[in-house]
Amino acid sequence: MIPIANPIITDEEKELVNEVMDSGMLIMGKYVKEFEEKFANYSGTKHGIATSSGTTALDVAIKSLNIKQGDKVITTPFTFIASSNSILYSKADPIFADVKEDTFNIDPDSVRELLKEHPDTKALMIVHLFGLSCDMDEIMEIVNKHNLLLIEDSAQAHGATYKGRKVGSFGDVSAFSFYPTKNMTTSEGGIVLTDDDEIMERARLLLNHGSPKKYHHDILGYNYRMTNISAAIGLVQFKKLDQFNKQRQENARRLTEGLNDLTWLQTPVVPDDRGHVFHQYTVKVDDREEFLKYLQEKEIGYGIHYPMPAYEQKLYKDLGYKDTSCPVSEKICDQVVSLPVHPALSDEDIDYIIDTLRDFK
Ligand SMILES: *Cc1c(COP(=O)(O)O)cnc(C)c1O
Repeated sequence: MIPIANPIITDEEKELVNEVMDSGMLIMGKYVKEFEEKFANYSGTKHGIATSSGTTALDVAIKSLNIKQGDKVITTPFTFIASSNSILYSKADPIFADVKEDTFNIDPDSVRELLKEHPDTKALMIVHLFGLSCDMDEIMEIVNKHNLLLIEDSAQAHGATYKGRKVGSFGDVSAFSFYPTKNMTTSEGGIVLTDDDEIMERARLLLNHGSPKKYHHDILGYNYRMTNISAAIGLVQFKKLDQFNKQRQENARRLTEGLNDLTWLQTPVVPDDRGHVFHQYTVKVDDREEFLKYLQEKEIGYGIHYPMPAYEQKLYKDLGYKDTSCPVSEKICDQVVSLPVHPALSDEDIDYIIDTLRDFK
């Protein structure tokens, strides 16, 4: 079986984790700070605030902007559930814009339409899905014109670029995940990035029980801290991030070269102005059920990212999202299949995937 994800952990990660174990500084410690500085610097922001997961990073990001009950936040329904759930954690209201059929990212025209209906919208949360940056010229034009706060869910896009600039550096605040299947891992883990000193200070308070000083608590906070053990894994993984991404890009290039003449399958689109880091290699097919059975038979791992738009989840139906409709999202939810693209694939794996798919029809 060729797995859909396969994190690469070597002796180097194990050695640094062992060192942390032996030091006794399991939680707070120098590696968290070092990891924060390195990742923020890499992504082009002033501050990095490490967290316990991508989900808690998003929660902190939203709360650090003072988004509150009843505030409207426009976002995409075609993403992992954590994106819009992080808006719900603050009792704010996600409003769902549709996505583009080719890039899978939020459609600026759909956002503009929603802003006509909801001129009081406070923020926009974009998701750089599958490792591809959103159209940031269009996004920034909307954000500036309507005076919106911008949150970038960059959980799938470590190192991805738009016109040479890294994602996570455009928004007022951004969030990344280091879950094991992401482009790099810390086991569980995440980070909040920002250039703004006040947002950084608030984020730091939020993830540590609102505590500027031991046993003093200024605001309602949480324990969302990254551990020193996770940061040690992260520091070693971070050194390899560009190499991991290059390997993903090379795997994607070979898959596309081998598959793009097939009429029944659509390979991923990469606009010229973007550096796609291929967290997922997601194709579109029409007879998906049959295709999935074939992949299973041939022992090729796959993922369905995502089977339904967020507003069709029971949670959202119960919240009253019964009338929301994003036709493009609904259509592609029935077509998408993610194929293995991770850096642990061998040349033979890629050849096998290409040859096997070419024999399907
Ligand atoms: C993985 C992911 C998250 C959540 O990250 P966790 O570390 O799993 O909590 C949020 N948004 C997107 C788009 C993701 O892919």
